Amino acid sequence: MANKSAIITGASRGIGRGISLELAQIGYDLVINYAGNQEAALKTVEDCKGAAHEAGHAISAIAVKADVGGAGDREHLIQSARDQFGRLDLLINNAGITSIGRADILDAKEENFDQLMAVNLKGPFFLTQQAANWMIDLCKEGIIESPKIVTISSISAYTVSVNRADYCMAKAALGMMTKLYAVRLAEHGIRVYEICPGIIASDMTAPVQAKYDKLIAEGLTPMPRWGQPSDIGKTITALAQDYLPFSTGEVINVDGGFHMRKL
Ligand code: NAP
Repeated sequence: MANKSAIITGASRGIGRGISLELAQIGYDLVINYAGNQEAALKTVEDCKGAAHEAGHAISAIAVKADVGGAGDREHLIQSARDQFGRLDLLINNAGITSIGRADILDAKEENFDQLMAVNLKGPFFLTQQAANWMIDLCKEGIIESPKIVTISSISAYTVSVNRADYCMAKAALGMMTKLYAVRLAEHGIRVYEICPGIIASDMTAPVQAKYDKLIAEGLTPMPRWGQPSDIGKTITALAQDYLPFSTGEVINVDGGFHMRKL
C-alpha cells in the first residue's frame, strides 16, 4: 500500500521540522517546505528518512522552496506534491514569521503589517483552499480517505502583546479560518484543526529566551518547562492517525496549561 503524504510548510527548522520528524516515524511521505534555508531543509529531509527507517518505515521526502505568501510559490508547492506523490492526505500550515521589529502598536509600520499578513494569514488561507480542492477530487477518485488540514496558530491568538499586534491579529484570524474550513469541508470528509502552541523552543523564540526562562520559572505555565517542537509533532500524529475521528474545527492547546486562568 502507498504511504500517506503530507505537506508541512516551514519545515526546515523549529516546529515544522519537529512535526516532520514525528510524521516520518508513522510512515508519511513528506513535502518539506522552506523559504530560503536550503541546507536546513535538506538536513530535515535526511533526518526524516533516518527517523522513518529506525521506526521500520520506508518513506520518501523532498524539500520544496516556496514562499507561502506568494501565489505562484503556493502553486509550485502543491504542484511539487502532485508530481512527487500524486496524493495529499495532510496539510500542515505551520510557516510563520514573528512581528517584524516587534514595534509598539503606536509605532508599527504598514509595510511590516502587510508582509506578516501575507505569510501568516493570506498564505495559509489560500494554500488551504488549493489543498482542499485537490483533496476533494482525491476523495472522489477513491485515492485518499479522511484527509486532514491542521493550522498552527498560537497562544497569541487570544493573548495580548502590544509590541506584536499584527502577529496576534493574524493568529486570531487563523482560528476563524479553521472554523470556516471545518464547516465547509465536513461534507467532503475533510477534518480541520487548529493547534495553539505555547512557548516553544525554536529560532523564533531564541532572541527572547531569557525573558521566557524567567517567566516560566515564576510560574507562567502550570507545567514549568519550555515546549519542544516534538510536543507539537506528537499531537499531530494523533490527528494524522485518526484518533479524533468525530471532531473537527477543534482548537488543541499544546501549551503546558498556559490557557487556563488561575486564582
Ligand atoms: P522558526 O523557528 O522561525 O521557523 C520558521 C520556519 O518557517 C522555517 O522553516 C522557515 O524557513 C519557514 N518560513 C518562514 N517564512 C516562510 C515563508 N514565507 N514561506 C515558507 N516558509 C517560511 O519558527 P517556529 O518557532 O518553528 O514557528 C513555526 C510556527 O509556529 C509559526 O507559525 C509560529 O508563529 C508558530 N508558533 C511558534 C511558537 C514558538 O514559541 N516558537 C509559539 C506559537 C506558535 P527557512 O528555514 O527557509 O527560513
